[in-house]
Formats: sequence, C-alpha cells, structure tokens
Amino acid sequence: MLKEPTNRAATESTVLSAIGYAAKDPSSGLERFEFARNSAGSNEVQIDVLYCGVCHSDIHQVKNEWTNTVYPCVPGHEVVGRVVKIGPGVTRHAVGDLVGVGCMIDSCRHCEPCRSGDQNYCAGPNSWLSTYNGPMVPAAKAPAGDNMYGRDNTFGGYSDVLVVNEDFALKIPPALRPEVAAPILCAGATTYSPMKHWGVKSGDKVGIIGFGGLGDMAAKLAKAMGADVTVFTTSAAKLGESERLGVRIVLEDDKEQLAALASSFDFMLSTIPKKHDVNPFIKLLKRDCALVVVGALEPLAPVNNQLLALHRKSVAGSMFGNLADTQEVLDFCAEHGIGPDIEVIAIQDINEAYRKVEQGEVRFRYVIDMATLKANAKP
Ligand SMILES: [Zn+2]
Ligand SMILES: [Zn+2]
Repeated sequence: MLKEPTNRAATESTVLSAIGYAAKDPSSGLERFEFARNSAGSNEVQIDVLYCGVCHSDIHQVKNEWTNTVYPCVPGHEVVGRVVKIGPGVTRHAVGDLVGVGCMIDSCRHCEPCRSGDQNYCAGPNSWLSTYNGPMVPAAKAPAGDNMYGRDNTFGGYSDVLVVNEDFALKIPPALRPEVAAPILCAGATTYSPMKHWGVKSGDKVGIIGFGGLGDMAAKLAKAMGADVTVFTTSAAKLGESERLGVRIVLEDDKEQLAALASSFDFMLSTIPKKHDVNPFIKLLKRDCALVVVGALEPLAPVNNQLLALHRKSVAGSMFGNLADTQEVLDFCAEHGIGPDIEVIAIQDINEAYRKVEQGEVRFRYVIDMATLKANAKP
C-alpha cells in the first residue's frame, strides 16, 4: 500500500457542513457542535455515520488525561457507516457499502512499519493520523515542524458524516450487525492483534485481566480461538458471567486461587485502563511466556524483574490493530458469531454514559445511535 497520504493543504476540495458532539475544554463535557469537513478528495470516501462505539480512550482524550488533546475535541474511533460518495480515484469501496473506521485514518506509507503493514506503529514524521485529535506527532513536535497530513485536528465519529482515505475504511461483513461491529474496530482489534502477534492458539491457557469492554471482547476472541480462558476481575458481581461465556472467572484478590494457578498460563492480556500492578499476574505465566498490557497508556507500578528473569518471561505493550488485523478480527467475529455486548444510547446521553464507564467496569460497550443527532428522539 505505497500510495501517498492525503495532504489536506494540497487538496482542492469543497466543504461539507457536519454536526457532532464536542468537548471545548477538559471540563466542559460534550455538547452539540457544528463544524465543516472537507468533502471527499480523489482517494477518499464520504461516510454517513450510523453508529459509533464509546471507548475508554474517548474519555481520557476529552478530559486531556494524556495531556495532548486538541480542542474542540470530537471523539469517536469505532465508526460504522454507509459510503454515500467516493472520490474519482477510489477502487476499494462503492457507494452503498457498509464500512468501518477504527483508530487511524492515514499513515505515512513509506516508513518501515508502514511498509510491513503496521500503520499503527508508523514512524513517519507525524506518525499515524488519528481518527480524532489529529496526527499522533503534531507539527509542533515533529522534526523540522513537518505537517504531512496538512491538518492539526481531526474530528471523529461522534458526528453525522466522516471523510477518510479509502485504504483506512474496513469492510463490515454482512453477518455482523453494524452496531455490534462498531466496538470491534477498536476493542476487538486491540485485543485480537496481540493474541495474533504472540501466537495464541487452540489449547493454550489464556488469562484476561480486567472485565470491562476490552476484557469481555478479549475473553470471547480467545475462547473462539480454542483457548482455555480465565478472566480476572475485581467485581464479585461478574462471577455469574462464567457459564454464559464459557470461561473461568477469578477474583483478583483470591490469593488461594491465584496460588493454584501459578506458572500455568501461555499468554496473559491486561485490559485495565489505568495504572496497576502486574506483578501478581507475572507469577501465573509459564516460562518464556508474555503478559501484554493493552488497557493502560501510562506508567505501570514497577515491575519486579526477578519475576521475569528467573523464568525468562516478558511484560510487553501493544496498540490497537493494524489495518489487516482489524479486517481480520471483523471477519473472525462474523465467522464465529461473536461480538461485544452492547447497549445502544442516544448521543444526548453521552455524558451520563461516560460517568458510568468511569465509575466501574461497565462490561458491555456503549454504542451511540447517530440517527439521534438529527432527531431529538431517543432510540
Ligand atoms: Zn479505543
Ligand atoms: Zn509510516
């Protein structure tokens, strides 16, 4: 995929009026916001947004918890919609197609990670272009002040219309309902990608730490891969989910059960979205095996290297999936009849939904029905 990224500064284009929900500053919450988008350039598709999932990153970003938020901030990177217009150079999609957009909408195409298909680790001057909040490395922090995408802020899927480069729009398989497909674009890809990279296979014993939206998705994917799955949670109320999901559920502070599980896991995935202590879980890994952190993007509690060195174990991190992994996890979910548990909400209820996600592990994923932007009615 060695095409050029879309540089807005160099592209002639007309303007579309869009409606979304945006935060003005870290404490404003989200409210209705009217703005302009450029209409589809040569290799871009215009998408009528149907649904957008609510990811914990949206909350971190809206509140500037990663200290890089560009305001106004229109979040949303679990977007499913219908293609309504295509640029003259588009070959991958047609008007009427159901497509999905995940965490990124462009990358440099030339760096080593991009050439090997890992656009999500783009090492170009501005790194990848995030679906919202602009380039991962903004011009002010780029070498020589580069601004290869020609923009400083991007507006995400909490809006009625999205325009993206065709390569970054994925195909939604017909077997997936669009509202169920939405969270797979981030939560699904983020958990599938490390399981693929570290070679999780049928018969492996897999531990999932945390039982929120990411943990639920990870457990279902690992189970469908044929793994023997154990989920670790802090919530006794979630022990009852065991039978329905066909996984073992263990309380994180149940020392007896943790001791019994020592040195038994082939792979562990931490989905906890904040700073936490992974040391108790390192003990549960077999020799040579890895614990991968996908939930937190901040410093963890110090890792005791003795626990790692004595049995050549590793603790690693991983981002959301690349384009191929994201398409693969959509297809995998369709094929295996799995998907996130969701609750569809109206955009007007978004601030309340954020509050609930922040309060605890909401195991299902909120998905916004974007039709509610136009009508004031709730779904
Ligand atoms: Zn996300
Ligand atoms: Zn790149």
